[in-house]
Amino acid sequence: MTAIRVAIAGSTGSIGTQTLDVIRAEAGRYEVVGLGVGSSVDALIAQALEFRPKVVAVADPAKRAVVAEALPFAEVIADLADLAADADVVVNAVVGFAGLPVTISTLRAGKRLALANKESLIAAGPVVQPLRALPGAELVPVDSEHCAVHQCLRSSNRPADEVARVVLTASGGPFRGRTAAELAEVGVEQALAHPTWKMGPKITIDSSTLMNKGLEVIEAHELFGTAYDQIEVVVHPQSIIHSMVEFTDGATIAQLSLPDMRLPIGYALAYPNRIATPFGRIDWSALGRLDFEPPDLATFRCLGLAYAAGRFGGSAPAWLSAANEEAVEAFLAGRIRWNQIGEICDAVLQRHTESADATNMTVDDIVAADATARRAAQEELAR
Ligand code: MG
Repeated sequence: MTAIRVAIAGSTGSIGTQTLDVIRAEAGRYEVVGLGVGSSVDALIAQALEFRPKVVAVADPAKRAVVAEALPFAEVIADLADLAADADVVVNAVVGFAGLPVTISTLRAGKRLALANKESLIAAGPVVQPLRALPGAELVPVDSEHCAVHQCLRSSNRPADEVARVVLTASGGPFRGRTAAELAEVGVEQALAHPTWKMGPKITIDSSTLMNKGLEVIEAHELFGTAYDQIEVVVHPQSIIHSMVEFTDGATIAQLSLPDMRLPIGYALAYPNRIATPFGRIDWSALGRLDFEPPDLATFRCLGLAYAAGRFGGSAPAWLSAANEEAVEAFLAGRIRWNQIGEICDAVLQRHTESADATNMTVDDIVAADATARRAAQEELAR
């Protein structure tokens, strides 16, 4: 069996390093042909010395020379989007809207996109969707909830007709059960203390506001074509059920596993097969209980904002995602309080205007919408 050639854009972050864990554990099955980073070159060099990729991409021009010197066997390129050329599968683990070129180039090249960068699909749905129909192009989600839904849908012969509801589970994050008043003074460290998942800072803050779940609602709509009225969110603090699909006959199929991102990563790499490494198994006798509760939409207003942006469509999801990125960055820098993240996103979304024909958007339209929304967010932040 020839090894499947894998490139990882954003290789030194949480998803990138866990992708390499999977590849290490599945000896001989995968070959790392490309690694790409923004500017974390020390970690990149260490990874490349172990995995010997043909190509490394370094976005930061000031750091390319040191990488080239340390890795004489590798070609050093500037653009992470060019990693798709030599790969069978590209793992897009770039954080935020910056991941859009990798999503586009991978699908355009007719390759499999293992998508951990949900923002590119959410913001640019109108331009990414047509690319999924290109020969060879395939989008397999790395997000744990969507990986779960993807698995549940395989149980139906006709998912488009037979799905009644997609139920996304949410851990509830570190602030589950707290009121808005109690959360007025929480700091960055508390927001970064996620109870069940170990992730990068941007998505961990998004989990604390439930914006992550809101973005995942839009992501589910884009990935599976499910109407917003048929997508529900339920809080499930143990993070054992990763999501569920209810079918027209009332049967619900759920996907359960330990909360470990290496499972969805391995699923996306191996699909339609499965990797042989379990990365932990559920101990049913020790599990005890699985709890469910409705999300608190008043305290966690970002979830409702995402439904509104998704239903509006066009560039509204791009505006919301951009506003959120700016607000989260300001929160992490200590410029705003935690509950201002939702306020900023709400204010920016209220300013949303459609500058292009929503049914015929180009990449440039999306990039322009992203920039306009970021300017609006900066104005709101300056108030
Ligand atoms: Mg998720």
